[in-house]
Amino acid sequence: MLHIVDIQSAAFPANQPDRPPKAIPVTKSVLPSLDEYMNEIRELWTSGWLTNNGAKHQQLERELVDYLGVEHVSLFTNGHLALEAAIEALGLTGEVITTPFTFASTSHALIRKGLTPVYGDIRPDDFTLDASKLERLITAKTSAILPVHVYGNVCDVEMIEAIAKRHNLKVIYDAAHTFGVNVNGRGIGTYGDVSMFSFHATKVFHTIEGGALTYNDPALKSRFDQLKNFGITGPETVQAPGGNAKMNEFQAAMGLCNLRHIDETIARRKRVREQYDALLKDVQGVRILTPQPGVETNHSYYPIILTAEQNRRDELHDALAQEGIFTRKYFYPLVTDYAWNQNRFASRRTPVAREIAERVLTLPLYPDLALEDVTRICTMIQERVKT
Ligand SMILES: *Cc1c(COP(=O)(O)O)cnc(C)c1O
Repeated sequence: MLHIVDIQSAAFPANQPDRPPKAIPVTKSVLPSLDEYMNEIRELWTSGWLTNNGAKHQQLERELVDYLGVEHVSLFTNGHLALEAAIEALGLTGEVITTPFTFASTSHALIRKGLTPVYGDIRPDDFTLDASKLERLITAKTSAILPVHVYGNVCDVEMIEAIAKRHNLKVIYDAAHTFGVNVNGRGIGTYGDVSMFSFHATKVFHTIEGGALTYNDPALKSRFDQLKNFGITGPETVQAPGGNAKMNEFQAAMGLCNLRHIDETIARRKRVREQYDALLKDVQGVRILTPQPGVETNHSYYPIILTAEQNRRDELHDALAQEGIFTRKYFYPLVTDYAWNQNRFASRRTPVAREIAERVLTLPLYPDLALEDVTRICTMIQERVKT
């Protein structure tokens, strides 16, 4: 039995005491039972080992290698710092081609590591970086590509690999949304040089805060260990000016508990997703995403695109909120429209990303969302897009 609580964030007004009785947040964190978690952390009181590559940390890394079907896993205290570590370990320089249709973390990691993001457009069907438009963005300064597997949709990994090979570029995937996703039976984390997974409380699998890098090259392991622990390699040896990004034992314990239930979590998300699909697929003015061939997804988000010529996305968002149904304009604004990004880089047009950002609405999706509530949400959407 999974227990699910409201997200504790101002972004989710469902926690307010005066909320309407049937308020539905856009997402909720999955929790194991309190007993299960207590059992998992009990031995920490005996060992006294709370962080720095403890027993839970080691066990979670091993279990994730199996579950994700990857060669190597390194855990971090969150996904963002994992991404910064990947950028640093691969020694990226100059320009990195990425997408404006993502969470702030992707571009911010590049900027914070002294790199210049170059923005490519996305594909209209799955919202991932359009690989067919990548090569024209490559210059003498380009060192890597940083695509994002948006909403659990996977990028064109084959074409990206071919381009990277041809131009001798590194590839880091932001796989924050694709925990447990497989492509043609292969773990998504095996593609590219490194993939970053986020284990934040709102993600399909979480360790409260947390993240991981997956990679095929075993030599990266010690680099990541140094970067997340001050560059310390022994009691009296410090190899590199590393920072601190270690996952602690309480986080790892939460991960071990949540991993026991992950198949049920994903199956219950699938149930919700299928109900949305059935009720929205024929609604005029609404476009839903179609499954990608060969991809076993994790049903992490449910975005819809409003297609009517007169775009009334914001009105729909506000009308649903009035009824206690909290949706998100995810991802809006584009990263290229952030205040810090204004006129900062040679701006390239990304018309598809712009159109999608202005028309997308992400609907509530979490494992115990009642199917009656999904029906209610779909009825409201249908009534409002009609008029
Ligand atoms: C959640 C997320 C991140 C950052 O992960 P944290 O674990 O919150 O640091 C990065 N990229 C994307 C696309 C995300 O959704």
